[in-house]
Amino acid sequence: MVAVLKPGATKQQIENLVAWFKSRGLDVHISIGQFRTILGLIGDTSQIDVDLLMGLDIIDSVKRISEPFKSANRTFHPDDTVVDIAGQKIGGGHFQIIAGPCSVESEEQILGIAESVREAGAGLLRGGAFKPRTSPYDFQGLRAEGIELLLEAKKRTGMPIVTEIMDASHLPLFEEVDVIQVGARNMQNFELLKELGKIDKPILLKRGLANTIKELLMSAEYIMAGGNMKVILCERGIRTFETYTRNTLDLSAVPLLHELTHLPVVIDPSHATGHARLVKPMALAAAAAGADGLMIEVHNNPPCALCDGAQSLTPEQFADVARRVYKIREAVTE
Ligand code: PEP
Ligand code: MN
Repeated sequence: MVAVLKPGATKQQIENLVAWFKSRGLDVHISIGQFRTILGLIGDTSQIDVDLLMGLDIIDSVKRISEPFKSANRTFHPDDTVVDIAGQKIGGGHFQIIAGPCSVESEEQILGIAESVREAGAGLLRGGAFKPRTSPYDFQGLRAEGIELLLEAKKRTGMPIVTEIMDASHLPLFEEVDVIQVGARNMQNFELLKELGKIDKPILLKRGLANTIKELLMSAEYIMAGGNMKVILCERGIRTFETYTRNTLDLSAVPLLHELTHLPVVIDPSHATGHARLVKPMALAAAAAGADGLMIEVHNNPPCALCDGAQSLTPEQFADVARRVYKIREAVTE
């Protein structure tokens, strides 16, 4: 981090500021020019509040040279992280499709979908048990019963399961869940992230509706700072002024995140577009862009789905998408 001081900064003010940085465990490189003094801060500057510094009378500008995320940063961990989910690997050249309904609705529904998506090439089964719905009057999910049904589907098909947590107090229900999803609305629920940092289970962290890539990485950092390094990032579209689509898919997040971090990156074209007919082209584009995986909503009867029917593929449509995605993967990987 570099702090440029204002021309009138006195010797005493500079000494006080340098002493304050040193008390924070930082080394300070002082460069005195004809008109200005520049302080180079060396060490872990992630705890330094840039806004607070900018508020000081003698500071002209502050620039971070290194990123504030450390555990997630590719600079400190050049190799791709490979997350092993009950034998299904993702990241570092391993690709996974996570498929299943938005919400678990019944035993018949989840078992039927699980069988069909597995056959079509999905490695993991998704299904919401606790649903974050915009309206309190909409279907809220089968909750604990939904998790039981997912576990039954896992037993029958052998597929690891992915399901969303909304509150840390529900963690005991997630003991046998393979991947815990943190949904877009909870990406900055820092207390929840801290709790998930204490467990030894893969976390699928979805980007918030209005969050930057840096904020997504800082949320991953919350989990990793607690010791849980098994974080998978998911881009699911962000809110823009566009209204034809539910969200706007930021596909550049894939190569950008691959530059910035070693964590696997998954694309969710279902929530990103909100329309079943847009899922296939965006899934193919994501595979071409180098995503480590896809998360796709599939329903046996989309018009009657209790949640997100408009963006859900039928099992037949999913089979077609999966087949083509694997072809794209072959074409782009060497
Ligand atoms: C989901 O995956 O079911 C979901 C609610 O997604 P998001 O958090 O991205 O809206
Ligand atoms: Mn959904």
